[in-house]
Amino acid sequence: MENAVGPSSPSGQGQLAEVWARIRGRLRDEVGEVEYRSWLRQMTLASLQGEEVVVLLPTRFLRDWVRGHYGDRLQALWQAEIPAIRRIEFRVMAEPRAEAGQPEPRAEGRAAPNGAAPRPARAEPAEAGLAEPLGRPAEPRMADSRGDWSASLDPRFTFDTFVVGKPNEFAHACARRVAERPAMPGFNPLFLYGGVGLGKTHLMHAIAWAIRERGVQDGRAPLSVAYMSAEKFMYRFIAALRSQSTMEFKESLRSVDVLLIDDLQFLIGKDNTQEEFFHTFNALVDAGKQIIVSSDKPPSDLAGIEDRLRTRLGQGMVADLHATTYELRISILQAKVAQAGVAVPPKVLEFLAHKIATNVRELEGALNRLIAHANLFGRAVTLEGAQEVLHDVLRAHDRRVTIEEIQKRVAEHYNIRLSDMSSPRRARNVARPRQIAMYLAKQLTTRSLPEIGRRFGGRDHTTVMHAVSRVAELMQQDIAFAEDVELLRRMLET
Ligand code: ADP
Ligand code: MG
Repeated sequence: MENAVGPSSPSGQGQLAEVWARIRGRLRDEVGEVEYRSWLRQMTLASLQGEEVVVLLPTRFLRDWVRGHYGDRLQALWQAEIPAIRRIEFRVMAEPRAEAGQPEPRAEGRAAPNGAAPRPARAEPAEAGLAEPLGRPAEPRMADSRGDWSASLDPRFTFDTFVVGKPNEFAHACARRVAERPAMPGFNPLFLYGGVGLGKTHLMHAIAWAIRERGVQDGRAPLSVAYMSAEKFMYRFIAALRSQSTMEFKESLRSVDVLLIDDLQFLIGKDNTQEEFFHTFNALVDAGKQIIVSSDKPPSDLAGIEDRLRTRLGQGMVADLHATTYELRISILQAKVAQAGVAVPPKVLEFLAHKIATNVRELEGALNRLIAHANLFGRAVTLEGAQEVLHDVLRAHDRRVTIEEIQKRVAEHYNIRLSDMSSPRRARNVARPRQIAMYLAKQLTTRSLPEIGRRFGGRDHTTVMHAVSRVAELMQQDIAFAEDVELLRRMLET
């Protein structure tokens, strides 16, 4: 059955050309001009029949590449335009001069072994054009099932946008190494592990992008990269079992040069899938291909993963992403702010980095909300605004504040020793922070003045009273001082 906007009717064809132009425009926005020109510009729409769209590419190589890397995305874009569409078929354009029965003018498969440039035909089909509807393509569609390893790589997750600090520098260095020279001895597999939101997926995508990009730059056939979560691996495997196409599944996976499997812990207890992954793993490593795996635990802690697989996983390089430090969180926030091109006062960043300490994803989310909010209302980002906008997020991170915490935070802030909070020293650089801590203890806890006095080295309640009024007075006089105390208060507040 012909679709409502079929290329067979002239008006339908016009409409379809528009849809196609929009889809390509979106894709170009998503992947960027360079990538688009290298790979996607040569796509031509051949037909839309029922639920299938047929897209042509000039060479088999290009067809595999586009299907492998953009297949899913194209399908999603098509579906967004025409929900009835279920699949995209990628075909090689019939070569006008090719002899009948000789379907492929170029080398087999993805890579010309001699390193011939991947750029295909120089002639460019009309940008917006629909191809002449062609007959059956030069080859049967069965010819490959490999296209579907399409990586939906996030364009934001590159090495450029990854902020390096103490907690992640080792994992980052390993990732760089592998991206530069895949399958180097000692780095295969690369096993990245760490808690939620610490950058595992970001690093994996960065490796994949770097490898793809380098291929493009050198004009060599890029290595084929397959990225997927362990969960997706499992679904695909099960689907292959159901449709009795496990051979194709195996072959298609084993033909990649770099395989990245994210969140391997998902395979815990999934015996069949583990078994299959183990075989794929061995086949690839034995063939000198690179494997990169991420997980929330180190291989040794992956209970429920078969011993032999666990052993092999730990045989290359194991690198962990540690919990972030305050410094790293600040750097990440600064980088994001610079990218967004928005002015956010340093105090707001400090506040966020203190308050949201667990997870970079949440930290980013909070910052994005602030920025979105400020844009929406055309207001500057301020500390007060931040506290208001992020009320719910912050509350989740809040806890009851104690005098000890106040002393510790204030001591850290002013770079004095915690013991100075209760020492008899009266030097101003110690006495002033001590007064601030007393003031905050009065503001933020329900302790009485004598009780607070006792916790500050057995001082009298009048000393505490004096501290409280002195700090309040200084806050009136000195805006910078007031902001400082406010910042401390917000950081501590319940
Ligand atoms: P994981 O896979 O470990 O759960 P992600 O890689 O998805 O974490 O990271 C969560 C979010 O935090 C992503 O948006 C990512 O870009 C960001 N992120 C994490 N670490 C960094 C970093 N070092 N530099 C920049 N962004 C980071
Ligand atoms: Mg992840």
